[in-house]
Amino acid sequence: MQILKVGDSQKAACEHCQSFQTAILQLKDVPFSDGNGLAKNVLVGVCEGCGQVILMPHQSTPSVKKQYEVQRKALESRVPAHMIDILNLVSFELSGGTEFVPNLVKFYLHSLSNNSICSSGIAAYLQSELAQGKAQKRLSLKGRQVSEQMAQLKAMTNIKSTTDLLKGIVLKIHDDLLVNRDENTIKQLKSIVAATA
Ligand SMILES: [Zn+2]
Repeated sequence: MQILKVGDSQKAACEHCQSFQTAILQLKDVPFSDGNGLAKNVLVGVCEGCGQVILMPHQSTPSVKKQYEVQRKALESRVPAHMIDILNLVSFELSGGTEFVPNLVKFYLHSLSNNSICSSGIAAYLQSELAQGKAQKRLSLKGRQVSEQMAQLKAMTNIKSTTDLLKGIVLKIHDDLLVNRDENTIKQLKSIVAATA
């Protein structure tokens, strides 16, 4: 198999130009074949005549496949808007900015599912005032272990719905980090912020 590099060129058939054209190899974001989402930075051949992607070298297949799987594994749920505010506030206080939100939730998901943070109070949070509200904002978590850890935590807490479990996690974060200010966890999270900044 010939390995191609960025900037290489190859002849390929272009449907748009209805002829054989020179395809220049470039890194591009390309839509998945089912039209749902994009594979980022994939080496493809772009038609010199019309700029369309006309060639997908075999060497790019594993990267596309991997990105497809990772994106399909994303867990999505809707929660009340104030829950996103809580997560934003906590991330802001940790100096992580709002882009730290998914990592914050994943840290809790991980710590709760392996018992390094106690999960026994989570179900009770769902009875609280803050658990109320229309689920209007999207919370999405990506990562290989997310579904597995969610399943584990559902079994541990006896909470069956994914949305309820996410709400419980957010309210646990609220209680630990904003209300009671657990300095130990705050310190751990701050070092993660620093390491990923
Ligand atoms: Zn073309």
